[in-house]
Amino acid sequence: MGSARIRPPTLAGLVLLALAVPAAIPAADAPLRVIVFGAHPDDCDLDAGGTAALWAAKGHAVKFVALTNGDAGHQTEGGGALAKRRRAEAQEAGRRLGIAEYEVLDNHDGELEPTLAVRQQVIRRIRQWNAEVVIAPRPNDYHPDHRYTGVLVQDTAYMVMVPNVCPDTPPLRRNPVFLYSQDGFERPNPFRPDVAVAIDAVIDKKIQALDAHVSQVYEWLPWVDGVLDTVPRDQAARLAWLRDQRSGHPIAEDVRRALRTWYGARAGTVRNAEAFEVCEYGRRPTEADLRRLFPFFD
Ligand SMILES: [Zn+2]
Repeated sequence: MGSARIRPPTLAGLVLLALAVPAAIPAADAPLRVIVFGAHPDDCDLDAGGTAALWAAKGHAVKFVALTNGDAGHQTEGGGALAKRRRAEAQEAGRRLGIAEYEVLDNHDGELEPTLAVRQQVIRRIRQWNAEVVIAPRPNDYHPDHRYTGVLVQDTAYMVMVPNVCPDTPPLRRNPVFLYSQDGFERPNPFRPDVAVAIDAVIDKKIQALDAHVSQVYEWLPWVDGVLDTVPRDQAARLAWLRDQRSGHPIAEDVRRALRTWYGARAGTVRNAEAFEVCEYGRRPTEADLRRLFPFFD
């Protein structure tokens, strides 16, 4: 009987104990932990690839998650074979950006719904990453997969802290800062650039990452736009074509204003930027918080 009192905890007991412990709040000087969600394997790159490359270059931990496997995104290919191709493209894009992980969830493209099951997938990813920053599209978009990605991620703000929700994955002790990536949709309300990041220093990396999504940038998207016959065959020529398509376009006036807020006079020379809007459901950051989370403005 006496020995029972001091019996060492079993392995299972230790695992249960570990699961019950909430993820620690990261120290102020610890590397940032950022997680970006997109609907398809290329959306994170398009929305936040430049900012992700800047974070990664400073030693911060960035993870991209595509909520669908992209198995509908092609005019002549599809199903499992396309999903495999796009997963490989995403891995290569992540490698080129220098981010820590690019995970592609095995939900069907074109069929994403804001279900409890997918919400739980998102909650677990945010918790496992111990994310301090979460980025996702707004829930206003022409594509239902994009729209529901916005809804799903928004629905995890707060829930990531509730221990009895997904109790198999330790809850966060502090709500992350949730941000929306930029879009051009006006209704019911336009995107508001609370933070704008100059990405000129890494625009080549972003273009190289997009170049890894061959099935998209050189095949599917030009086919959708009816310009497939304008895509050069030669690799150097098509990379130049992609750069022309995806960089150096005029910056919207409200984003330019946001750049001036964060960069001061230097904003005038910025040619490429990514912007983000603070979601009011997550932790509400102060200006000092945003300067720590986006350490690019000095
Ligand atoms: Zn997409």
